[in-house]
Amino acid sequence: MDPRWSTVLTEARALHATLPALSAFCPFPNAPGPQDISAKHDPLAGAMAAAPGDTTPTMAPLRDALIAAAPLGQWRDTYRDTPIGAELHAHFGTYEVLGRDAPFAADAMRGFVIYQAPGYHYPMHHHPAEELYLVLSGQAEFHIDGQGSTILRPGDTAYHDSNQPHALTTHDSPVIAYVLWRGDLSTKPVFTYPEALT
Ligand code: FE
Repeated sequence: MDPRWSTVLTEARALHATLPALSAFCPFPNAPGPQDISAKHDPLAGAMAAAPGDTTPTMAPLRDALIAAAPLGQWRDTYRDTPIGAELHAHFGTYEVLGRDAPFAADAMRGFVIYQAPGYHYPMHHHPAEELYLVLSGQAEFHIDGQGSTILRPGDTAYHDSNQPHALTTHDSPVIAYVLWRGDLSTKPVFTYPEALT
């Protein structure tokens, strides 16, 4: 196991133990077994390291561990078969750290890191998994369909209920967040209003 992954696990476990919002959403797996995954490179790994945005002393250790491990990650291209897949993938990326296709196996949850570059709008999407975002650095405007939007900063969380449409807008800053899923862990996100995408 690459020590960069071990550090991610240590810092994720520490944050789950520190923050009630995380431990209430899902227990941290006891002994998430290491498993081999193939790295899938993404230029966003470099972008994330070059301009991670502001953070706090509490969020910095996991944020820094996720940046260090980013070259090892299996970066996803979730929307590649959609009209805006390429554009989205140039600005938004994610890799999994805990769960089905992650360096640490877990059955009851999935944990990801997401990075979104400044000045991008990730349109409304939804998925059956319940979701908790924890902002680690930078900031972003989190939208929930019909409920307006809120700017979230390091240490802030956003909860998305099952199939509740949500969107993410970055302005001057990028955002790095730790994202947890529980419930239906296998159904991918889809755009809520695909007809509006061009
Ligand atoms: Fe989501």
